[in-house]
Amino acid sequence: MKNLLTILKKYWGYDRFLAYQKEAMGCVLEGRESVVVLPTGGGKSLCFQAPALVLDGMAVVVSPLISLMKDQVDALIANGIPAGYINSSMTSVERRAVDSRIRDGSLKLLYISPERLVMDSFIEYLKRVKLSFVAIDEAHCISAWGHDFRPEYRKLKTLKEEFPGIAIHAYTATATEPVREDIASELNIGTPEFIVGFFDRPNLIYSVKRVDKRLNQVIEVLERHPGESGIIYCIRRADVDTVCSQLIEKGYNALPYHAGMNTADRTRNQERFIRERTDIIVATIAFGMGIDKSNVRFIVHSGMPKSIEHYQQESGRAGRDGLEAECLLIFSDADLGTWSYILKDQSAEVKDITMKKLYRMYDYCVGLECRHKALVNYFGQEYDSTCENSCDICLENVEVSSDALQIAQKILSNVKRLNEYFGADHNAKVLTGSKDKRLLKLRHDQISTYGLLKDYSYRQVRIWIDQLLGQGCLVKVEEFGTLKIEEAGWQVLRGEIIPKLLEPPKPREAQKKIKRAVAQSWEDVDTKLFERLRSLRIILAEKRHVPAYIIFSDNALRDMARRKPETMDEFLMGYGVGEIKAQTFGEIFTKEIRDYLEEIR
Ligand code: ADP
Repeated sequence: MKNLLTILKKYWGYDRFLAYQKEAMGCVLEGRESVVVLPTGGGKSLCFQAPALVLDGMAVVVSPLISLMKDQVDALIANGIPAGYINSSMTSVERRAVDSRIRDGSLKLLYISPERLVMDSFIEYLKRVKLSFVAIDEAHCISAWGHDFRPEYRKLKTLKEEFPGIAIHAYTATATEPVREDIASELNIGTPEFIVGFFDRPNLIYSVKRVDKRLNQVIEVLERHPGESGIIYCIRRADVDTVCSQLIEKGYNALPYHAGMNTADRTRNQERFIRERTDIIVATIAFGMGIDKSNVRFIVHSGMPKSIEHYQQESGRAGRDGLEAECLLIFSDADLGTWSYILKDQSAEVKDITMKKLYRMYDYCVGLECRHKALVNYFGQEYDSTCENSCDICLENVEVSSDALQIAQKILSNVKRLNEYFGADHNAKVLTGSKDKRLLKLRHDQISTYGLLKDYSYRQVRIWIDQLLGQGCLVKVEEFGTLKIEEAGWQVLRGEIIPKLLEPPKPREAQKKIKRAVAQSWEDVDTKLFERLRSLRIILAEKRHVPAYIIFSDNALRDMARRKPETMDEFLMGYGVGEIKAQTFGEIFTKEIRDYLEEIR
């Protein structure tokens, strides 16, 4: 382990292990096969990369996408680690160069696709090489239970027979137990060690808002992150195009990405995002797999995701570097209808499962529980207490209404008066005494509950209805979304239980709080210097044809802009600065810092 810590410092510039890395690396060193499940940003790659440097022979890493392979290999090479890949994008000269390094034993990590690894000729080729172990990255692709099933992963089952003495280790961020078990059984690894991390992402600040001037809600987030990278997810391609052009019109640096675009445009936009030539990608869920960009600072869902699993994965693309990042989900009831329309050609079985997952997602949106707790609980883990300052529920909605019982009874009575025949919007209109044409035509201004909550805004009442839905007092029925009273609701009407109703604070107050949370780790950072170092990073990355974060992560740059190292020795002490990076970039970065300090002195 001491050896590993030295390696961590020397090559990566890190001083300690992240949670479970030590255990996971121990398995690799001792040849105990493992299935490692850590959340995005948990540092899975290092779990196999660091031991590969200690063990004799070459490690084979199975990776599903060329872009992922390239990203990881570029990052390894930038740290001075002998790594390479073989894939179809290579020229024959490049291929021969890798072959010769495999043959002379100098390559420590070889990245490869599952298709290639199981080809007979490639297996024969590898049998002549001294291997240390096989690592399967994104291992959930092997499971039909997972969300990214890739049939070619299934063929990896033969590895155990072809390379009997070589340990296999699988890595994934997918939490559910059936997927984990399935991975072990599909890989034919009998009794692996299961190393399962904690699924919370403490650096992500979650909030959920019911739609209300969608574009403004999106822009509120963008305003908190000028010049930073982020993704805006939309449900439909048409929404991607609309939102993207609206943002461009407002002067934002945004590009679209969806499956309806041609491959060349898609690849170009993705590249521009990764290389920090554009700040914002507006995309459908087609975007994301293979994006290892560590400094995504915000994810906005401009529509409800398909399931909590999808939400976890899509929002999880933010803040891989461990720095705070913001995830806003904007939802509306209409999103359920949109998804139902998208699913219309699916089999009844698929539709049924997907709709159930969508309703769970909806419950999350209208829920009143700490978001971190709700997500972690969904994946079957406990979360003691609440996050306190990293979600809208804990940050914003502090005041519990003292009239909760009365208000809830008024809402539920109204549902009853309307014979449980109308949806949430109509109920809110009646309660707030709206003069809506349809309402008047139905003579709902004549019923006894009309205007009972006229002292509150329509929006506020609508949010309370959501909260009653979230607590099981009401339920939404089928596609028309009519409200029906559940047993808990009848109990509220009889005064037997008191539901929880929260009053959201004034919008400005809420924004201030989120802003403060988002700014946490900028403490003591000289932001002007940070911007200069960031520009320098982009220039260096362009020259080397690698993404900017491969030169240095945001975390490393913030550390520099905090400590302002002027000498090589000081530079080498920095977070995320290994020996090779110090040799390659130390002079140029310390010079930039010295120049800056000179200018401001
Ligand atoms: P995952 O594959 O689990 O999403 P990565 O392997 O991409 O995570 O790691 C996420 C980030 O954390 C990377 O920027 C990586 O360099 C960094 N990291 C990994 N291990 C450590 C460590 N021990 N100390 C500090 N940072 C680390």
